[in-house]
Amino acid sequence: MSKIDLEAELEAAIVAVRDAATVCQAVQKNLVTAATLEKKDQSPVTVADFASQALVCSSLAKSSKILGVVGEEDAAELREAGAEATRDKVVEHVRGVRGAGVSAEQALDWIDLGGLEPDGSQERYWTLDPIDGTKGFLRGEQYAIALGLIEHGRVVLGVLGCPNLIGPDGKPGCLLAAVRGHGAEARPLTAIGRAGSTPIRVSDIADSALARFCESVESGHSDQDQSAQIAKALRITAEPIRVDSQAKYAIVARGEAQIYLRLPTKKDYREKIWDHAAGMIIVEEAGGKVTDVRGHPLDFAHGRKLANNSGVVATNQKIHDAVLRAVACYVDVS
Ligand code: AMP
Ligand code: MG
Repeated sequence: MSKIDLEAELEAAIVAVRDAATVCQAVQKNLVTAATLEKKDQSPVTVADFASQALVCSSLAKSSKILGVVGEEDAAELREAGAEATRDKVVEHVRGVRGAGVSAEQALDWIDLGGLEPDGSQERYWTLDPIDGTKGFLRGEQYAIALGLIEHGRVVLGVLGCPNLIGPDGKPGCLLAAVRGHGAEARPLTAIGRAGSTPIRVSDIADSALARFCESVESGHSDQDQSAQIAKALRITAEPIRVDSQAKYAIVARGEAQIYLRLPTKKDYREKIWDHAAGMIIVEEAGGKVTDVRGHPLDFAHGRKLANNSGVVATNQKIHDAVLRAVACYVDVS
């Protein structure tokens, strides 16, 4: 296996995520105005999604030794006739960060750098969710730019940019990062270099009755009736923390909740790798544990989806077995 400098890759990933976050923040700030003034406009989330992917991919193309990116988006629809208005807006946002000299073609090509199809032949690649938690983004709530590095089917590095999560400086904007075997840390999203960086640890609570759990705001993404039954079985009295995006992993990694439950609402739904790679390694490196509802490790060796897993259970580790036992009573784990 060829060697790479994971510290250098971490810095490349952090810069890439920060660039994308500036655009997402600008679009989210103007959401109300855009929606009311430009009724015919394409969804702002679409514009921010594409611009975010263009910025992350162009940044990685410059600073990372790893060329492949498995991104959620591709530019095919932007290249079609009729998509000019959206395309122009995407390009405008990319130029806002990369300079006025960027051509429309260049911006679209950057988006398509995220078009790698993992088939088992690649040694390593990035996986990117340019805006994870788009519903939260539109509500003005939590969302994340999520970037993970997969090496031989294992996640080895992850960065989460959470513009609306309170950072270690007490202000909105938190960046979380982890490298396999080197722990997890949080820093202010806009910090320069390592400024303000603090190690993060999961909570010490060993009695599941004292735990708090988090789950999706969207009941279509995780079964909230089942999670309520599981919480009751574990004698949890605290209300669930409902948050969009991989900010849920961040909350467990920082010790603010002990459990993240993602319980399938459709038996055949398979999670996407970019929805979990960064969050999972951040929780694991903060001392937590992440499995699917059957207790199997998340297996990133099967292309764009976690084809061999169902749902997600992330905990502070100490209460993992107790949570899995309760999950098995209410969720079909066959
Ligand atoms: P969350 O913000 O945690 O609700 O998750 C957002 C993610 O849910 C999106 O990035 C989608 O990829 C993913 N998603 C879409 N449909 C489903 C589904 N039926 N079950 C689980 N996740 C889903
Ligand atoms: Mg997502």
